[in-house]
Amino acid sequence: MQDILDEIAFDISGMTDRGQVADYIPELAAVDPSQFALSVALPSGEVFSAGCANQLFSIQSISKVFTLTMALGKLGDSLWHRVGREPSGDPFNSIVQLEHEHGKPRNPFINAGAIAVVDAIMMGHQPKELLAELIQFIRYLAHDNSITIDEGVALSELATGHRNSSLAHFMASFGQMEHDINCVLGAYYHQCAIAMNSEQLAKAGLFLVSQGTNAVTGKRIVSAQRARRINALMLMFGHYDGSGEFAYRVGLPGKSGVGGGILAIAPNKASIAVWSPG
Ligand code: GLU
Repeated sequence: MQDILDEIAFDISGMTDRGQVADYIPELAAVDPSQFALSVALPSGEVFSAGCANQLFSIQSISKVFTLTMALGKLGDSLWHRVGREPSGDPFNSIVQLEHEHGKPRNPFINAGAIAVVDAIMMGHQPKELLAELIQFIRYLAHDNSITIDEGVALSELATGHRNSSLAHFMASFGQMEHDINCVLGAYYHQCAIAMNSEQLAKAGLFLVSQGTNAVTGKRIVSAQRARRINALMLMFGHYDGSGEFAYRVGLPGKSGVGGGILAIAPNKASIAVWSPG
């Protein structure tokens, strides 16, 4: 296993075009695009890594897998009154379908859907309380108490997030927002600004590998059926309008983030986290 990962890291190091960082969030625009990390966590507890696997990065929309899991735990199937579960075929921050669907986002991974999920699980709590619960949950999943939020990234997005504000206001115009929009957006930006390294992220995904149980800690996180369903959602729209292409080329349930990370699940085999900011 280690040989394979080292070979991949070696191949990547020879690539000249390292892509572009997401520059619409100023803090992310400053990240060096040439970095690379890859970690594979196995149900046996072994973790194999290559590249800068200890380097923290902004998990951004990968966090939506964890909030969705929390939301299904709190609300069960009634969550689907707030968001759909269909691929959108549109970019992550698109507003167009919201008009046709009366402010109900197509799925929980596009930005509008993720904002609706935060609104749905706020349930009268303060953003801080919700975020504390989410961080606790992710620490529990990854078995690592050091995971925190990068406040600088959250504030950077808060200051520039006009598109997300418009999505939230547009949903509110259809009566689809229950809480104060600024509170919901504040919680959403902080959720996206969770900082993890590839090892922590791969470990946090393990519950989706082994039918809802973290095989390393032995703790059941969700039912086997729910784990299968979360994987199905990741396969269908974890990469927004690139989901079909990712499924075709990679063939694994995955969730991307504009910080350059991807969490991919090989059911019954491994949880894989990769990071390349460009
Ligand atoms: N925080 C980002 C945004 O709302 C998340 C997008 C992503 O990672 O795909 O634009």
